[in-house]
Amino acid sequence: MPRLPGNVIDGKKIADDIRTELKPRLTRLADAGVVPGLAAVLVGENPASQLYVKMKGKASEEMRMSHWTIDLPADVPEARLLQEVGRLNSDPKVHGILVQQPLPDQISVDRAVSAVSPLKDVDCFHPVNVGLVLIGRPRFAPATPSGVVELLTRSGYDPNGRDVVIVGRSNIVGKPLAALLLQKAPKANATVTIAHSGTRELAAHTRRAEILIAAMGSPRFIKADMVNQGAVVIDVGINRIHDPSAKSGYRTVGDVDFDAVRPKAEAISPVPGGVGPMTIAMLLSNTVLAAEMSSKAAGAASAP
Ligand code: NDP
Repeated sequence: MPRLPGNVIDGKKIADDIRTELKPRLTRLADAGVVPGLAAVLVGENPASQLYVKMKGKASEEMRMSHWTIDLPADVPEARLLQEVGRLNSDPKVHGILVQQPLPDQISVDRAVSAVSPLKDVDCFHPVNVGLVLIGRPRFAPATPSGVVELLTRSGYDPNGRDVVIVGRSNIVGKPLAALLLQKAPKANATVTIAHSGTRELAAHTRRAEILIAAMGSPRFIKADMVNQGAVVIDVGINRIHDPSAKSGYRTVGDVDFDAVRPKAEAISPVPGGVGPMTIAMLLSNTVLAAEMSSKAAGAASAP
């Protein structure tokens, strides 16, 4: 099983496996003259967003996929951003489009994600694609949530029949993850609880979890006394904390107090090296799928 020493789940290794599995599909596309292309729209100069977009570009390059970053200034009017997304929608070389969040206040997240063609929406944020996930007929797998599912199942932890507690109900992580896990389908069929800031007695819920997933954005919030002995713990959080001993002056930690929780957990995903690499692998996988769908549609259109 892809684990690091002890009970630590190796997200990097599992993400590498997923990328390797994409290679034959990329070869088939190349034979048909198609190179999958991913375009990222980056607004402003948020260092974390710049880093994420850079990592996605680097990962695309490593797979010999095309990628483009469209840099827009922090004060870009919404109409200009929507125009740029429209241009990418109609560019046949672009198979996947992502609009990196967070976005500045003058831009509506709803309008930005709805502007992306559902056929190029590799983040799976478009309302139509979100709805398809909810009814169990996904076009694209939402990147971070499906990364969590793959991390679990490929480490030997099938959610089938398990009590899963997700802390966090965002449209990016918590809600789509719950939608995936509650389907009557393989790699799912769990009993899912979603907790949030309005939840009373959070620890009473988290302590019940056989699989606990933290997606809160609150550094090391989940302590050992909030975790059931023998639980599987997946940490989605990415938080920068001040660390004068680090060269950069900061350190990245998750939402789980890793050192304290690890001895209690049957298995735990680290930060970094857990869900983060999985998100990128699933994004690449969606871009390959988008290119396959586009190539198939083009083939059907040109058939006699
Ligand atoms: P959001 O801020 O959008 O959502 C956070 C959620 O956590 C909200 O539902 C909030 O509740 C809930 N929450 C916050 N504090 C508490 C608390 N004390 N008790 C209970 N619930 C709480 O964050 P995201 O979902 O976008 O991201 C969550 C974390 O995951 C972040 O650290 C982010 O950086 C990381 N992330 C990592 C990714 C990866 O690839 N590894 C990808 C995407 C995100 P309420 O709704 O009531 O406000």
